[in-house]
Amino acid sequence: MKIVLITGASSGIGEATALRLAEQGHRVVLGARRVERLDVLADKIRAAGGLVDTARLDVTDRADVAAFVDGAAARHGRVDVLVGNAGVMPLSRLDSGHVDEWDRMIDVNVRGLLHGIAASLPHFQRQRGGHFVTVASIGAHEVAPTAAVYCATKYAAWAVTEGLRQEVDPSIRVTTVSPGVVESELADTITEPGARELMRTYRANTIPASAIADAIAYAIGQPAGVDVNELIIRPARQR
Ligand code: NDP
Repeated sequence: MKIVLITGASSGIGEATALRLAEQGHRVVLGARRVERLDVLADKIRAAGGLVDTARLDVTDRADVAAFVDGAAARHGRVDVLVGNAGVMPLSRLDSGHVDEWDRMIDVNVRGLLHGIAASLPHFQRQRGGHFVTVASIGAHEVAPTAAVYCATKYAAWAVTEGLRQEVDPSIRVTTVSPGVVESELADTITEPGARELMRTYRANTIPASAIADAIAYAIGQPAGVDVNELIIRPARQR
């Protein structure tokens, strides 16, 4: 049984990952801003016999993330896995000038990820063991119009995670999971009409969030000496 912290667990990939890992007997510690959604999810997990804690978490707030991680470590004596999953994707063209939305993507997708690493790494080092799982994106591997800033944040997530892998002690494992188009609420934050329309076509063929949860469970389930560094999971129909 591992203590698995998941950021952005209130919907989509985070929620599916919480369900899958709890089902496998791990204790899941779930963070997101919409606590009412976390409460419903936690009830479902408990009803199925799973172990779960929830906390209100805004990953853009460094102190909040530190309290999330340190709190779990204090309650359970250790933290084994951090799934850095929280993310937003308000796509727009660069000439739209939606600077506030660009800032938000940088804050959540990059700073939020870094806050999780900063808070968890001392525990992993002390324990001489731990596992970072970053949910990046196919956008960490290619750029498309309206997605320049989003992809930049995901390239950054990829780079930070790969750098982390190279720096840490071999007792600490590091995995980047890059999903293609997955069913979730991610596209709901797009405000620019052109980008919204483009996404409607782009997101016509999705795979369920459980497909990504399975990939994360696979990486976590490997023996301690085996580090699954990267996984790309696309719908078979996605080019
Ligand atoms: P959802 O929008 O369904 O989930 C995003 C999650 O992030 C929510 O639980 C949300 O919770 C949380 N979140 C957003 N902002 C914050 C914040 N400031 N602090 C804490 N949590 C936050 O989308 P997905 O499940 O698709 O997204 C999960 C990850 O997967 C993201 O990193 C996304 O970039 C990545 N991804 C998704 C793909 C897809 O096609 N769906 C493809 C490639 C990558 P709340 O609002 O309650 O805080």
